[in-house]
Amino acid sequence: MELYELTISQAHKGLINREFSCLDLTKAYLERIEREDKRISAYITITEDLAVSQAKKADELISSGREVDVLTGIPLAVKDNILVSGVKNTCASKILENYLAPYDAAVIKKLKNKGAVILGKTNMDEFAMGASCENSAFFPTKNPHNIDYVPGGSSGGSAASVAANLSCYALGSDTGGSIRQPASFCGIVGLKPTYGAVSRYGLVAFASSLDQIGPLTKTAEDAKIVFKAIKGKDEMDSTSLDCSDDYRFNVLDFKIGIPKEYFIKGIEPDVEKIVKDAIGRFESLGFKIEEVSLPHTKYVIPTYYLINTSEASANLARYDGIKYGLSRNDRDDLIDVYLRTRGEGFGREVKRRIMLGTFALSSGYYDAYYLKAQKVRTLIKQDFERAFEKVDFILSPTSPTPAFKIKEKVTDPLSMYLCDVFTAPVNLAGLPSISIPIGFSNELPVGLQLTAKPFKEDIILEAAQFYQKNE
Ligand code: GLN
Repeated sequence: MELYELTISQAHKGLINREFSCLDLTKAYLERIEREDKRISAYITITEDLAVSQAKKADELISSGREVDVLTGIPLAVKDNILVSGVKNTCASKILENYLAPYDAAVIKKLKNKGAVILGKTNMDEFAMGASCENSAFFPTKNPHNIDYVPGGSSGGSAASVAANLSCYALGSDTGGSIRQPASFCGIVGLKPTYGAVSRYGLVAFASSLDQIGPLTKTAEDAKIVFKAIKGKDEMDSTSLDCSDDYRFNVLDFKIGIPKEYFIKGIEPDVEKIVKDAIGRFESLGFKIEEVSLPHTKYVIPTYYLINTSEASANLARYDGIKYGLSRNDRDDLIDVYLRTRGEGFGREVKRRIMLGTFALSSGYYDAYYLKAQKVRTLIKQDFERAFEKVDFILSPTSPTPAFKIKEKVTDPLSMYLCDVFTAPVNLAGLPSISIPIGFSNELPVGLQLTAKPFKEDIILEAAQFYQKNE
């Protein structure tokens, strides 16, 4: 087995048993990135110097004989909307093309304190808006299983880096599915934590009431390791809090609910079959399965797209050519600075969302669109609450289809938005949710999504790990 193929826990064992050094491990990734990333284009920035110096530090720590964390010396990739001090943070946008992060995001600070090794920043849909990585202003990322296909989005670079062994694990962000859907398309594990479980300090805001940072890993066991390392209250994010994780339960005591509204037309027959087989597998492992109802499912996409665009239009107002990044300020006219900076700096999808959100928030339309969407959001959340009175998990496909071809959906934003039908409701309700790989359709991975009550990451991770051990 090559060093870059190891999971976090395997690499950790190798490091503490002195089978190889952190520098060996880091170099194995850097060399592989040099060779392979031309084909995949997972990274926007490679932080070789930082990685090598962090690896040397980790080696010193290990050779000092002191007890080290399981993440010490383990190389990761970071989505390019999570700040790493002194490193470019582009959000895959021209408007931030040369923007240097002035500080570390809370999650990065935590990982650095554990001795993590940062390999670089990964490609994404511009400002995390998209489901294919094609909205990057720089280049699309390719699916490592077949480079004619998208890796999913918006954390497509992070997912592809893990799947192609260009990182041991990665961080992504999930506003409507951006960790889980690319994890599903690339055949890896992706965890979207409960809203508030992980600090958003230093995550560039897209839609603040929906955004969460989470891990993309090779296994559920690794997702648990990373989640434990990044979670918890942070005084810089007032929405963050501590959550329990005692793992003292028998996972087979939990019941799985299957929403009857999820197996409808639009879902690809192969995906349906693979997910139904996995449900059978869960059942034969000893889980109880029950049908549940999420009656407001048909309103998820319009509700999600009104709320995310409204919040995005407010959050992205800060990119005005004065405060951050790109500035077209060579003429003596403030309005001209705004218009040209934003006109040249933002891509089509970002502009589309700012316009839609500005419209939904404008006086005269606010009640009909934004306020209505917020009310429906409550109904969607209540659907889950009712279902969770009967069951502990909701199981569904992560995405209605496997990865699609590059360019297949770029000219049809609506069909791109429909990719989020199973993932976005989870963000609207603020719940924790994981995607795990369960099979292949035409050699492209298919993922299954498990969702639970708020702050029940522990039972999701345990169930996912149990499934993967007994596959
Ligand atoms: N595909 C969704 C969107 O375009 C998800 C984005 C995300 O989770 N960041 O909004």
